Amino acid sequence: MDCLFCKIAAGEIPSRKAYEDDKILAFWDIAPQAPVHILVIPKTHIESMNGVNAENSKIVAYIFEKIPQIAADAGLKNGYRVISNCGKDAGQTVPHLHFHILGGVTMDAGMIK
Ligand code: AMP
Ligand code: ZN
Repeated sequence: MDCLFCKIAAGEIPSRKAYEDDKILAFWDIAPQAPVHILVIPKTHIESMNGVNAENSKIVAYIFEKIPQIAADAGLKNGYRVISNCGKDAGQTVPHLHFHILGGVTMDAGMIK
């Protein structure tokens, strides 16, 4: 499959890893929008939030179990924001489910422009 994040998960394209196990990978975003900007992905291909279903939702729960530790390891002591863009209107550019962890700065209360 010609999927950028599947290739990163497989190690075919290099990334700066923040956390990895057999099920998920967390890596630093190549174009950071905050001092800490990490992406967390399932190693299995799911296109977006719209592709989450009863068969694969356990991996989403697992990602959310791991996010606090990934954030803590990145030094995010004062909080962080988790975002998943789904589809065109949200600006999803990579069609492989991913969660942005953003932090290291005090963010505005508004979540959309
Ligand atoms: P989204 O716009 O929500 O689909 O997020 C995709 C994110 O992937 C963007 O923040 C990009 O900067 C990031 N990105 C694209 N290519 C790479 C790459 N090779 N390594 C790390 N991050 C990437
Ligand atoms: Zn993929």
